[in-house]
Amino acid sequence: MISLVDLKTQYQLLKEKIHDRMEKVLNHGQFIMGPEVLELEQKLAAYTGVKHAISCASGTDALFLALAAYGVRGGQAVFTTDLTFVATAEAIARTGARPVFVDIDPVTKNMNPQELDRQICRIIKEGKFEPKGIIAVNLFGLPADYDAIRAVAEKHHLFLIEDAAQSFGAVYKGRKSGSLGDVSATSFFPGKPLGCYGDGGAVFTSDDALAEKISSIRLHGQGRDKYEAVREGLNSRLDTLQAAVLLPKLDILCSEIEKRNQTALLYNSALAKVVEIPPIFSEIHCAWAQYSFCSPKRDVIRDHLIRKGISSVVYYPIPMHLQPVFLNLGYRAGDFPVTEQTVKSILSIPVHPYLSKEEIRFILDEIKFALNE
Ligand SMILES: *Cc1c(COP(=O)(O)O)cnc(C)c1O
Repeated sequence: MISLVDLKTQYQLLKEKIHDRMEKVLNHGQFIMGPEVLELEQKLAAYTGVKHAISCASGTDALFLALAAYGVRGGQAVFTTDLTFVATAEAIARTGARPVFVDIDPVTKNMNPQELDRQICRIIKEGKFEPKGIIAVNLFGLPADYDAIRAVAEKHHLFLIEDAAQSFGAVYKGRKSGSLGDVSATSFFPGKPLGCYGDGGAVFTSDDALAEKISSIRLHGQGRDKYEAVREGLNSRLDTLQAAVLLPKLDILCSEIEKRNQTALLYNSALAKVVEIPPIFSEIHCAWAQYSFCSPKRDVIRDHLIRKGISSVVYYPIPMHLQPVFLNLGYRAGDFPVTEQTVKSILSIPVHPYLSKEEIRFILDEIKFALNE
């Protein structure tokens, strides 16, 4: 069986370091906000080049903390891509604000900046919701078109949050993912490019005032004193044990992403003529959380791969605007044609850093076999 992620091989590689780190935590006993959490936050900030990295309990919370720090509330609109994991839209809805979806670019599968502008103009014209911000998602690890999205954000005076849950380790025009939004949010869910052994996340910003708010909201709205609450908050801390797991993993992230890139290059050159391959750009270094291609014969390929013991997944089968939970927003089938077309043909195959040459060859051969090529 070839799985989509291989945490076991990575664990064997890092076993000693992870055990040492965890043992230290078990001995000092500071399970909440212990020294490993602070060490990790400093290393994450240094890695991404932002001033503040604030760890938290999940990627979903990281997005919510960013929105809460901007004071997002009912009556406001926050714009995001129609093709993402539901957590992105869920975080917006949890603030009381209106999630407004945007169709994707047919090549990158990320939010289409022209469509973003069109949706913002539509909301302004309708006059029911006040446009407040944008969450750009780096789907599959590929940074969205930040230059174009930032221009739209500035034109309409909106904040820009980067959902870097799938892209930690990616680079956009010399800048690391985690530094591409006014505030960025990532996830340490085990299957993400940088994952821990449970739930975890982090928020990034170079804005001192926002960082202070985010830290406070993460700790029950704490003020200067531990038992003074200055705003409504939540309990969203990263466990010290999870920080202990992440520290050795952060050290090898770059080399892991390099391997994912090599595999993606092999896939692209072998599959270019038989499926619609994902784009590779010279100025954008993808984290390859997933390698996803499109084919009208997606289901045939998928069934064949299952028979051969090769894992694959459809990310995502339902666009945000057609999710039952968002039915009340009034969207209909046909509203976002590019996303709707994409979810019918997309498939993600294993691209984790521990695939052998033989496994890569096997996966390619079986995809071509399924297509009779
Ligand atoms: C995984 C993911 C999240 C949520 O992260 P969790 O840590 O699982 O809460 C948010 N956005 C995207 C795009 C994701 O892939």
